[in-house]
Amino acid sequence: MKEISCKLLVIGAGPGGYVCAIRAGQLGVDTVIVEAGKPGGTCLNVGCIPSKALIHAAEEYEKIRQMAEGRSPLGISLQAPPSLDLAATIAWKDGIVGRLNSGVSGLLRKARVKIVQGRAAFRDGKTVEVQTETGMQVIRAEMVVIATGSKPVELPFLPFGGPVISSTEALSLTTLPKRLVVVGGGYIGLELGTAFAKLGSEVTVVEATDQVLPQYDGELVRPVQKRLQQLGVRVLTGAKAKGLSGQGEALLVETEDGKEHKLQADKILVTVGRRPNTDMAGLDGLDLDRSGAFLRIDDQCRTSMRGVFAIGDVTGEPMLAHRAMAQGEMVAEIASGLKRGWDKRCIPAVCFTDPEILSAGLSPDEARRNGLEVRVGQFPFSANGRAMTMLAEDGFVRVVARADNNVVLGLQAVGAGVSELASAFALAIEMGARVEDIAATVHAHPTRGEALQEAALKALGHALHI
Ligand code: FAD
Ligand code: NAD
Repeated sequence: MKEISCKLLVIGAGPGGYVCAIRAGQLGVDTVIVEAGKPGGTCLNVGCIPSKALIHAAEEYEKIRQMAEGRSPLGISLQAPPSLDLAATIAWKDGIVGRLNSGVSGLLRKARVKIVQGRAAFRDGKTVEVQTETGMQVIRAEMVVIATGSKPVELPFLPFGGPVISSTEALSLTTLPKRLVVVGGGYIGLELGTAFAKLGSEVTVVEATDQVLPQYDGELVRPVQKRLQQLGVRVLTGAKAKGLSGQGEALLVETEDGKEHKLQADKILVTVGRRPNTDMAGLDGLDLDRSGAFLRIDDQCRTSMRGVFAIGDVTGEPMLAHRAMAQGEMVAEIASGLKRGWDKRCIPAVCFTDPEILSAGLSPDEARRNGLEVRVGQFPFSANGRAMTMLAEDGFVRVVARADNNVVLGLQAVGAGVSELASAFALAIEMGARVEDIAATVHAHPTRGEALQEAALKALGHALHI
């Protein structure tokens, strides 16, 4: 048995953990990181990166199919229908993941972080045991960061296995399911459901609430619903999955009107949320305070035990990679002795549907629920020249500001490629911009980003292009 000591021990090398370790290493903190799987965690291996690769491949395929079917308004046609080698698509995606895995390991080494491969188990709040390939390793640390992430929620009546899959398996399918039923019309269900529909699967989405993507307001979701319809995706809202039919070839679903449906399916993708990885051996013994199933943290990501921090998905919503990274960076700086606290004004969120949805800060309804009087400006992409040239006229940009002083409270958009506006949205809110600041910024022409300036002008009552 080997024993090592360090100042900071990070458990989990997802975006939260590896960023924390890199930053701590940069600051000269003696740091060890333990990872049971591959560096990069859910995000890099089975989440953000692979899903965006598949979404991109599906978009390309759908565009070419349109051309082959004579449906392209661009005047481009193809003589033969395209074909898809999904195994090759997945191999391409795996290549990207592999390159990034090596990249993360390289960055950790460059920051002089010691990487221990294996599953960590707590002995006590300052000691962890890891069963590695070369035997048991005991690590003693002054401070510990739990960055163990999350895993898919499994429905008791629809356990994973056979035709029932989670996003992890969906991202590695090498043959296309002819009929795909998606249970849960949230982020993952709609991102992957849309991609599979574009690749040629017949997709049905079963969503328990009365709207897909219930986390967003109806106005933002409408263009996505329209596109799902165009793609032939069947959406059942107010619908509950009940279980598999006798032979497991169909999903039984009950809709709001009490009717039971039998949805034939080759694969059933269950995406009803994610739960924290808190089943790590010895963690219960620390008796950390919880917030529901998640670890409770304060504004410095400290848990209820002195010297034990938690970051990322294991601490709850929003379960986003960039939030985990920002928390990781902050905790590393605290561990090095710097004074830091969570002072971010917003965490932007992007849903990579078609079209994409982007939200930063408060929506008009959220602001009003907080008792604020708001000024709202909205500009449609149908009045934006660049959007027209890219067949991307659906959607809009919306600015929400305080009515009394025009400070921007929130920015939302729905439209093709709006994810790339996330930096501008977050920057405006983080820097405390007023509507006048956005309106007075020269936006390059022709770009879809001009819609942001126009939405600000609209809020001020003098939009120029509508
Ligand atoms: P994780 O990335 O889950 O990493 C935790 C790591 O800890 C894992 O590598 C795990 O192996 C390791 N670990 C766990 N227990 C132990 C142990 N006992 N010992 C050692 N190691 C351990 N977010 C976005 O912001 N944008 C997106 O586009 C996006 N797309 C997504 C698509 C999908 C399909 C999924 C599933 C998620 C997506 N997410 C997205 C969410 C994002 O992946 C997570 O928010 C993010 O990965 C959380 O980072 P984390 O560091 O908290 O945990
Ligand atoms: P989610 O919370 O986004 O969506 C789950 C959906 O399932 C909800 O709409 C919910 O109403 C529905 N649901 C719950 N139980 C159901 C049932 N029994 N039958 C039918 N519908 C049911 O969860 P997710 O899609 O699994 O994603 C998990 C997390 O991963 C998200 O919280 C998100 O933060 C993260 N994620 C982010 C991105 C991104 O940033 N682009 C992409 C994917 C995942």
